[in-house]
Amino acid sequence: MTNIHQMMSALKEKGLYREDFKHLSSEQAHKVEMEGKETILLGSNNYLGLCSDIRLKEAAIDATVKYGVGSGGSRLTTGSYDLHRALERKIADFKGTQASLIFNTGYMANVGVISSLCDRKWAIFSDKNNHASIVDGCLLNGSRLVRYKHCDMGDLERKIIEHRGSSNLIVTDGVFSMDGDVAPLDCIVKLAKKYGAITMVDDAHGVGVLGEKGSGTVSHFRVDDEIDIQMGTLSKAIGSIGGYVAGKQCFIDYFRNFARSFIYSTSLPPASIAASLKAIEIIENEDSKRVHLLKMANGFKNKLTDAGFIVSDTITPIIPVIIGDAQKAVEISKSLLQEGIFIPAIRPPTVSNGTSRLRLSLMATHTDYELEYVFDKLVFHAKRLGVIEG
Ligand code: PMP
Repeated sequence: MTNIHQMMSALKEKGLYREDFKHLSSEQAHKVEMEGKETILLGSNNYLGLCSDIRLKEAAIDATVKYGVGSGGSRLTTGSYDLHRALERKIADFKGTQASLIFNTGYMANVGVISSLCDRKWAIFSDKNNHASIVDGCLLNGSRLVRYKHCDMGDLERKIIEHRGSSNLIVTDGVFSMDGDVAPLDCIVKLAKKYGAITMVDDAHGVGVLGEKGSGTVSHFRVDDEIDIQMGTLSKAIGSIGGYVAGKQCFIDYFRNFARSFIYSTSLPPASIAASLKAIEIIENEDSKRVHLLKMANGFKNKLTDAGFIVSDTITPIIPVIIGDAQKAVEISKSLLQEGIFIPAIRPPTVSNGTSRLRLSLMATHTDYELEYVFDKLVFHAKRLGVIEG
């Protein structure tokens, strides 16, 4: 127990202690009721606003009325419905692959796929900024985990030459969640071909945002035929819940048989599956939401840069505003919350020391007026704490 108390005190001293949750008492839209107060949300992954779209709600209600609230079993026992099959077909067509398989979350998809595919004969080359679920999948299987510098293709090649195993996997996020930047998939597939590695992309933040009809980062780089495994989540732009993996039929058959996080868990309820199906249909048919979102994000980022903020150069709606000091990042985030704006402060260990930041994520439904208000308040508090001059 003493150790626990010491660890908690140390966290507090460093400004890294995670306080209690902020509870919403409304649906998740760009404006929410948070702890009883109307708040503009700039921290949601609900990029297209589909979480609260009436068409998804209706699809979920209809599915609940028809099938009930729970699925009653794992996919391989009694928990497979025609809806699950339809969603797997839909995802495969959307991603342009032979087949797909749904997991209960993106986290479970990464852990299940990587831990079942690789064993101690494998070397896994993983971008240093990849999501924690990729790292956890690698740690579960006894393979050699080799982390290369973020998006650094020279470092990746050097590490492949040095650490190659009899089988090799290169795995990367498509869009990095904390920086909003995009992995150089065009270069990664060339290295994979040169050294005979399998490729896997976690496109949790790319789907619905980048690529042909919003199908993601792999499509953005036009490397659909060269990426072996496309993983993603149904919980961000798609607005629902769940994870998936898409690729050749042989991979999907393999994961159905060996991915433990798929096999040993009750399947997703019909409502979530029906909502995901509807969301993908909307994403495929409504380019305007995505185009508007990307244009708005680009304009907002330029405005922040002009005001003196250090902002990563991205083409996505994720806008990291680097504050540096963890305590200042938290202080600005808290002050903004009092003004009715939620922007999370991201601190170590999620990001490296000295790069604490406010992670803004824009939604297609934010208005110009709201963004103007956010900008003014952000500038005010950043000046007050000496983050920008003025
Ligand atoms: N991969 C990435 C890049 C993510 O950002 C996340 C969610 N934070 C996940 C995987 C996990 O997805 P889920 O939330 O569906 O478990």
